[in-house]
Amino acid sequence: MEISNYFQIKKNLPLNVNLLAVSKGFSSKEIKTINNEGQNDFGESRLQEAIEKQLLLKDSKNIKWHFIGRLQSNKIRKIVQNFEYIHSVDSLEKILKISNVSFEEQKNPSIMLQVKLSDDPTKGGFNPKILIEKWDQIKKLKSIKIKGLMTINPKGLSSKENIKLFKKCRHLADSLRLQDCSMGMSGDWEEALEAGATWIRLGSIIFGNRLY
Ligand SMILES: *Cc1c(COP(=O)(O)O)cnc(C)c1O
Repeated sequence: MEISNYFQIKKNLPLNVNLLAVSKGFSSKEIKTINNEGQNDFGESRLQEAIEKQLLLKDSKNIKWHFIGRLQSNKIRKIVQNFEYIHSVDSLEKILKISNVSFEEQKNPSIMLQVKLSDDPTKGGFNPKILIEKWDQIKKLKSIKIKGLMTINPKGLSSKENIKLFKKCRHLADSLRLQDCSMGMSGDWEEALEAGATWIRLGSIIFGNRLY
């Protein structure tokens, strides 16, 4: 655990930027350690792994769980039941389903719509044109709070290229009048900040190397 990195980054963040501690691959004990330092937002990308930790941490009432992994339709109900934020909503079909399920479950999750801004075939997300086309329909959906957009940059970009892509995300969010941009990971969070991120998602830089 790289707790000094955590303090260092946290200390210098602008007030409007939130730090999501990505705890996938790490234990409830490590989550508790950093929760005791005042970190309340934790991101997980595998449902089963997350639910096991949530159970162990159920007495830590201030923890807010964010789902950041690839969304499978058949897991949406469990995700809605167990997470306050979902950062990885990547299609119209899934946002419709989340809205319906949230209504049935009497939940009201906060949503980031994942957008695909580059050709990276390993990354999903809304095509920006389609998102704009469908926006009138999406913004009316009940039982969800659409907070902003989320993006994952391809690996291996220069600093400049990262900033350029992150700015695309920021501009698209602004044009939809959305406040949040969830962007930036351990390798590119500084570029994301420069481009206007409001959530940075940090795993290994805080927790150390993980197996996946
Ligand atoms: C794993 C993961 C992160 C954190 O990655 P690091 O490089 O360890 O900071 C952030 N966002 C998503 C969507 C992830 O899956």
